Amino acid sequence: MSNTPLPAPELGEPYLLTPGPLTTAYSVKQAMLKDWGSWDDDFRAMTRNLRSQLLAMIGDSAADYDCVPIQGSGSYAVEAMLGSFVPRDGKVLVLANGAYGLRAAQTLDYLGRAYQLLDKGDYLPPRGDEVAEILANDTAITHVLAIHCETSSGILNPVEEIADATRAAGRKLLIDSMSAFGALPLDPGALHCAAFVSSANKCIEGVPGFGFVIARKDEIEASKGNSHSLSLDVHAQWATMEKTGQWRFTPPTHTVAAFMKALDLHAQEGGVAARGARYTKNRDVMVGGMRDLGFETLLADRWLSPIIVTFFCPADPNFTFQGFYDAMKARGFIIYPGKLTVVDSFRIGVIGQMDEHVMRRVVDAAREALTDMNVSSAAPPVAALEERKKLAA
Ligand SMILES: *Cc1c(COP(=O)(O)O)cnc(C)c1O
Repeated sequence: MSNTPLPAPELGEPYLLTPGPLTTAYSVKQAMLKDWGSWDDDFRAMTRNLRSQLLAMIGDSAADYDCVPIQGSGSYAVEAMLGSFVPRDGKVLVLANGAYGLRAAQTLDYLGRAYQLLDKGDYLPPRGDEVAEILANDTAITHVLAIHCETSSGILNPVEEIADATRAAGRKLLIDSMSAFGALPLDPGALHCAAFVSSANKCIEGVPGFGFVIARKDEIEASKGNSHSLSLDVHAQWATMEKTGQWRFTPPTHTVAAFMKALDLHAQEGGVAARGARYTKNRDVMVGGMRDLGFETLLADRWLSPIIVTFFCPADPNFTFQGFYDAMKARGFIIYPGKLTVVDSFRIGVIGQMDEHVMRRVVDAAREALTDMNVSSAAPPVAALEERKKLAA
């Protein structure tokens, strides 16, 4: 890491091997030691820079898009995007293979927007030909919602083929790129994406407090009056920011200040490509080491994101998730429970202020944890491997 931060343990904190909130740089935390007036020019300048620096990350198509920050966690931004860009008489094809796709469908229930759900279960990817077939059979569908990296399993969904099918059918594409943007390339122009969302506390390595919508300007302009919600109206937030440079309601000032520092670090590191490369190295070192210990990943390499990885819990009766969690925490690492419905699993995130050296220590900690627990083999139960065969089918 270029700007060497204080490693988390020197602050007496464990590393968060979670998909956000995550381990941030010391300088990001330090940026919050100041109060900002939300109306003041200095804060307005930060907001302006925040929007333009995020837009610069999408590359060539930036001129056609604008960035609208929204207070709240990532789900607020998802809800703002769905409520603002899907007209009240619109219909969404929701591509789900985990909790975040299902949450988007639930959001549409609350909004009273029609949708069709393609639910692929815990982790199977929605494919382009399936999308094409559904769109051909249901002409009422106006929008397709894809999850870029489905953080529940860590699968990297095939957004390009989904985008191709959506465009070929003349429908509009919305993307939840919450846990991918900033580390994985996303060119909304090339994907013909109407809008996508991400948030402050994932791959850009800020602290929680806001999300942001990046949408085509013509889509933003056309969205006036669509939103069911005052506070989540993307058009209204955008119009106010354009006119006054301010957020409509109290902005998360300290979070924004921290985010500006996180954006500096992101640029210093070398932008999206370098961040993605560091996370990929983190994943490869961690997954390689865990496999050497006998652990198995849920997903085949092709679908493994450089964000978070799901492992099967070992079949050995001495293994318990709680015991493993506690042993890892005692060594300075907070892991994450799994979200599979069929077999027991856990997840290890590889994003945040961590590099391959930290990942080697994660593997050492896992080895020691197995010894502590008297687990002789980390091999998963047969049922887990049966489950995984579905992916190859
Ligand atoms: C983190 C995340 C969200 C938003 O979750 P919040 O808890 O509301 O921040 C949405 N979608 C995906 C894919 C995510 O990883």
